Amino acid sequence: MTNCRPSQLEEFNLNRACIHEAGHTVIALHFGVEVSSIEVVRSKPTVMVDLERMNPQVRFIFLAGGAAGECHRYKNYDQQGVAGDQQKIKEWLGGSITDYLSDALKIVAANDDRLNKLSEKLAWKWQCNSLGEAFEGGPENHVLLWKSEIDLI
Ligand SMILES: [Zn+2]
Repeated sequence: MTNCRPSQLEEFNLNRACIHEAGHTVIALHFGVEVSSIEVVRSKPTVMVDLERMNPQVRFIFLAGGAAGECHRYKNYDQQGVAGDQQKIKEWLGGSITDYLSDALKIVAANDDRLNKLSEKLAWKWQCNSLGEAFEGGPENHVLLWKSEIDLI
């Protein structure tokens, strides 16, 4: 059993969003899946991976990785924030995101240091953007971290 509950959050929390994306990322790296970048796409952070090339179980654990990242730090996950991940699991004919959460949590916990470093770096990059730094593609679409930067963490 996982010690992790869904939660209804009132407002956007940048640090939570970053640990969520870091969670997806450490799962991908754990399974040797290439992460080409972490980007903001239409104002939403996204880990860029090729879902089609993953084996089904890895894919579902990867998709639960965001919720697992949040659970690892906050003991809960933002129900609305994982709606897109749950939708993708459904599209790939998986079950409930909670079915994959305990596997994802184990991997996330084993990569605690990498998770924190990734999340901090993402938060820093994202904040720089909101402070008005000029990013290619504008504030709604831009790269937070490239593969070369992710590989160094
Ligand atoms: Zn997610």
